[in-house]
Amino acid sequence: MAATSRGTSPVPPDVRPRLTVLSGPSGVGKSTVVAHMRKVHPEVWLSVSATTRRPRPGERNGVHYFFVDDEEFDKLIANGELLEWAEFAGNRYGTPRRAVLDRLEAGEPVLLEIDLQGARLVRQSMPDAQLVFLAPPSWEELVRRLTGRGTEAPDVIERRLGAARVELAAEAEFDTTLVNTSVEDVARELLALMLEVSGQRADGD
Ligand code: 5GP
Repeated sequence: MAATSRGTSPVPPDVRPRLTVLSGPSGVGKSTVVAHMRKVHPEVWLSVSATTRRPRPGERNGVHYFFVDDEEFDKLIANGELLEWAEFAGNRYGTPRRAVLDRLEAGEPVLLEIDLQGARLVRQSMPDAQLVFLAPPSWEELVRRLTGRGTEAPDVIERRLGAARVELAAEAEFDTTLVNTSVEDVARELLALMLEVSGQRADGD
């Protein structure tokens, strides 16, 4: 009578929600796209990373990041609580594992906005993940954005430009590229990609 052990039919892999990773060079506008998603599409669940970086003006703990010290970050790593983590421009950033897995298990599409190293680690541990590369309209535009933010010291900008050059070359490793010409367009395209992977791939090729 108890029908609790009928789990023999496999869940079709094509209808499982997948993890979508948005990455790209520093300054390309990833966080602006994500801020727009948060506002216009609150139904999309965004992972909140832990970081050892200091908060910038307007950033809120638990919303933009979980701001932790080095010791706490060490503990997160030691306890296996991070899905991936990376060091970027002198600070550490990591994705809390449990929250992401819970959402995926609940059938919700999940979006991570992380750096290239993190995207590679996610690809290794979750090969189903969809990797989306956010590209600048041009190199000149990227330099303008990186130098125009006005919140970082010149040596930090220089380090970020160096990282950006390397990161731009990684575009080929990604499943899809979105060019950041307008934040609204990118957010719309990103949402379409996320919904496509979470439900509509079962009609085959
Ligand atoms: P920012 O300090 O400007 O907020 O972020 C710096 C870089 O860290 C960005 O490229 C951002 O995508 C990346 N980042 C933010 N959270 C994570 C994370 O959890 N893991 C990884 N690997 N990178 C992250």
